[in-house]
Amino acid sequence: MVGFAPLARVGQAVLDVLFPSRCVGCGAYGAFLCQSCRAELPRARPPRCPICWQPQPQSAPCGRCRKERPAFEGARSPYLYEGAAREAVHALKYSYLSALAQPMAQLMARYVEEEGAIEADLLVAVPLYGRRQRLRGYNQSALLARELSRLYGLPLAERGLARRRNTPSQARSGDAEARRRNVTDAFIADRRWVEGKRVLLIDDVMTTGATLDACARALRQAGAASVWAVTFARED
Ligand SMILES: [Zn+2]
Ligand SMILES: [Zn+2]
Repeated sequence: MVGFAPLARVGQAVLDVLFPSRCVGCGAYGAFLCQSCRAELPRARPPRCPICWQPQPQSAPCGRCRKERPAFEGARSPYLYEGAAREAVHALKYSYLSALAQPMAQLMARYVEEEGAIEADLLVAVPLYGRRQRLRGYNQSALLARELSRLYGLPLAERGLARRRNTPSQARSGDAEARRRNVTDAFIADRRWVEGKRVLLIDDVMTTGATLDACARALRQAGAASVWAVTFARED
């Protein structure tokens, strides 16, 4: 295995010449997300609902969470789905820029560390359904989860959670209530992986929270002790 390392470095050097790293935020050469764009990513600042992370006048549970508590303990996102954060998510999802997963996961890891309250034994990524993943070739959430798994030294349950059936793409499926109906029962978790575990659920973007809630519900049904969710960005 050791013998492959220099070859891999040569491979990377060739790639850098053919496809030089360019910042998805400002277009500068040298990195996929340059230092100044990293520093200026739009932060999802408090006060927010401590459960779903929706902006609030004060740090207290929002009306929706008081009415019906989500299946996750809490969801957190360091950034708003705007500006360079949006560009990064798009590039990771649609432009096959998988190298972006590394800096994005580093930013997520640092944020989770700062938050402090989140404890986990196991990472799980929000799955794409089979056909969409085959078309795209990879799942962007799994790329982030893989990097986080490496950074934390925590196991990633690659097959811990699966789509039960095809659900229409979120972009095409209308209002929040319709999306919610769509994703309920869309997931199934594997008890062999998750039973008794404190799960950290990873996705790229949180929109309504319905997907994370449905995933968390499936994980809890399969015996997960608790579920926290972390996404790179969120839509306020
Ligand atoms: Zn930049
Ligand atoms: Zn809430």
